[in-house]
Amino acid sequence: MLPIIYHPIYSNFPLPEGHRYPLQKYQLLKTHIDNEKWPVQTFEPEPLNSDTLKSIHDHDYVNALISGELPLVKMRRIGFPWSPNLIHRSLTSLGGTTLTVDKAIKHGVAIHLTGGYHHAHHDFGSGFCLFNDLILAAEHALSYPQIEKVMIVDCDVHQGDGTATLAKHRADIVTLSVHCEKNFPSRKPESDIDLPMPIGTDSHSYLREFLPCLTLALAQHEPDMVIYDAGVDIHVDDELGYFSVCQSGIAQRDQAVFSACYDHQIPVAAVIGGGYRTEQEALVPLHAELVLSALRTYYPHSGI
Ligand SMILES: [Zn+2]
Repeated sequence: MLPIIYHPIYSNFPLPEGHRYPLQKYQLLKTHIDNEKWPVQTFEPEPLNSDTLKSIHDHDYVNALISGELPLVKMRRIGFPWSPNLIHRSLTSLGGTTLTVDKAIKHGVAIHLTGGYHHAHHDFGSGFCLFNDLILAAEHALSYPQIEKVMIVDCDVHQGDGTATLAKHRADIVTLSVHCEKNFPSRKPESDIDLPMPIGTDSHSYLREFLPCLTLALAQHEPDMVIYDAGVDIHVDDELGYFSVCQSGIAQRDQAVFSACYDHQIPVAAVIGGGYRTEQEALVPLHAELVLSALRTYYPHSGI
């Protein structure tokens, strides 16, 4: 059974009417997976202890954000109004990405039905990201004796600026970001490997560039663990992405990442990442491709 990490709080924190964040997609995706009766086993995470955040984030930033004392201008940069539930949701989702690492190390693969907060920096958050779950999860993976190097493969359409900065001086965390060259964030600090692509990139061009880049990156860096941000905001109809990738392109991308990790016997913890549509139901089949690709690769006898 494929390990899936999910908590109902992912779709439950207060947002103003018409807010851009697709709050319901997490719950809609989980319901879809349940209805399809795919062979998955769901695990509910516990909130991450806030002291753990201080291993990568500034102490004052962590304390101010958790207690609701972060200046309004800094909350605006994050893009959410502060609430106790926002903090509880955030800590639970951070616990979720760490739990996804644990399950991936045990089973080879695991999927988190949220995560990918790659715009969270050392002492500030931005773009709907409070704390950087990808780096926290990488740190957690490195606490295992058999994991000496983690590669973060970030395929969200937006560049992983917070991740790049937080991993800048670390030889044990390799960052790869494939993104739109003209999109948020405007300032793009260097990842170990950046693969910027132009506005309008279609499935064919995307895969032609990304697949050899992934192969080379794995061969060069030989990571013991991959954390995969499978953002679907590369889709042609996404409201915050400017690519023209179709659903089949997303499926081929996810399949390629899982196949490569499977072939190299590298455990892979995947998070669903970004995906923005006013009609949030439309995101469900796109994110579901991640689950389907994992089932096809790791559970071929499931008949999926
Ligand atoms: Zn994104």
